[in-house]
Amino acid sequence: MEKGIQKLKGLLAEVVDLQRSAAVLAWEQQTYMPPGGASARAEQLATLGGLAHRMFVTDEIGGLLAELEQSAGDWGYDSDEACLLRFIKRRYERERRIPTDLVAELARTTAIAQEVWVQARKAADYPMFKPYLRDVLSLRRQQAECLAPYDHIYDPLLDEYEPEMKTAEVRAMFASIKDDLVELVGTISERADAVRDEALHGDFDIERQRVFGLEVAQKFGYDLERGRQDEAPHPFCTHFSSDDVRITTRFDPTFLPSALFGTLHETGHALYEQGVDPRLARSGMDTGISLGVHESQSRLWENLIGRSRPFWRYFFPQLQAVFPDALANLDLESFYRAINRSAPSLIRVEADEVTYNLHVIIRFELELDLLTGMLDIDELPGAWNEKYQRYLGISPENDAEGVLQDIHWSMGAIGYFATYSIGNLLSVQLFNCAREALPNLDADIAAGDFDSLLGWLRDNIHHHGSKFTPRELVQRVTGGDMDARPYMAYLREKYSDIYDL
Ligand code: ZN
Repeated sequence: MEKGIQKLKGLLAEVVDLQRSAAVLAWEQQTYMPPGGASARAEQLATLGGLAHRMFVTDEIGGLLAELEQSAGDWGYDSDEACLLRFIKRRYERERRIPTDLVAELARTTAIAQEVWVQARKAADYPMFKPYLRDVLSLRRQQAECLAPYDHIYDPLLDEYEPEMKTAEVRAMFASIKDDLVELVGTISERADAVRDEALHGDFDIERQRVFGLEVAQKFGYDLERGRQDEAPHPFCTHFSSDDVRITTRFDPTFLPSALFGTLHETGHALYEQGVDPRLARSGMDTGISLGVHESQSRLWENLIGRSRPFWRYFFPQLQAVFPDALANLDLESFYRAINRSAPSLIRVEADEVTYNLHVIIRFELELDLLTGMLDIDELPGAWNEKYQRYLGISPENDAEGVLQDIHWSMGAIGYFATYSIGNLLSVQLFNCAREALPNLDADIAAGDFDSLLGWLRDNIHHHGSKFTPRELVQRVTGGDMDARPYMAYLREKYSDIYDL
């Protein structure tokens, strides 16, 4: 048994090495690669992706998994070995059904599509991107078909990002919050004048923004000996091991919150990856378990900490010193309200906490319709604009502010968006547990001390990497299932206070 598990770990380590090497190339494509490098990079990513897949779905790994399963009862349920076996078996059974050629083709097509998306977004030119989107959608449909039978074609795609979650559950979750959110947006808009954010628009030197953002990130616990920050058109976090976890940011010299909260957000992702137990290195379990749980960490640091009063009690004087012209005459309370101003807007990543999930619901509904064939790619911008009008009462003037704003579809990430809302909901559920365990949390935060919170997150979430399914993890921490009610209660309380509702 010991020999078998060592053999399996050795084979998995090679697969993980190839995947992480591909991740380095993907990171470099979005940060430094000149546009001309795109087609060669697409081939490199297809080769590496195909190779990693081929080396994973072998009969040898299948045989080892079957053999080890015989003796799995000897391991405790929580042991690294038992968790590895469950985790890899699930992944193996899935990947084994997808042809390596399709994996490689997806890697190649999406690498090119991402480059075209960057250009198309710049030019607000949807027709430029459309044929590539058609190819990506077709490949993702083929992938889903390999994993049939399913209840909904979205299921196997969602499962890649949020293991075991079903489309029907996401629908039910959205149904339980959508009407309340639309109503809350309406109530706040009647009091729109109560909160102003003019002070956040102006002239904010990018270098100063970068320095301040990174200072906060380090204060949170982001270790720059094991991380770094670069610029990219769409902010993200990636990792090549828990000792090399990188974030990217996009700066706007005219609007302060954009890069600041973007940095806090990506730092939340990075803290998760840096906190994974080193014993899990190169096993494939050495990463966050799902995008929903990942997003719970980024949103926790970005919103529940970064947009809270205690946090700014500590950091606002420092921010004022960095931008005295813009902020010297602003008081803390006005600043707190300004960064929490809620108003319908077009760009998801910059949306406030109240409207954010409506951006996600729109994308989720469109993806379902695209996958089932109810909506054609030709009609997508029109359908996008119509939904923005219906849910948020606004519609974009061009496709760069509309259907072209997100990188996800060009990356093949269809089935991904729902995890943003799962993350929002979980962030509050998990934070409530942290609060209960740490009675001095607000005082710690107001003193600029995040050690107790990070320690709690490390012990309860980060450390486990992918050892437990999202459902198991939530159960272990909260004692129950994912629940939208704490999130809605949080929003209502916070915004009733800010807008005096
Ligand atoms: Zn995120």
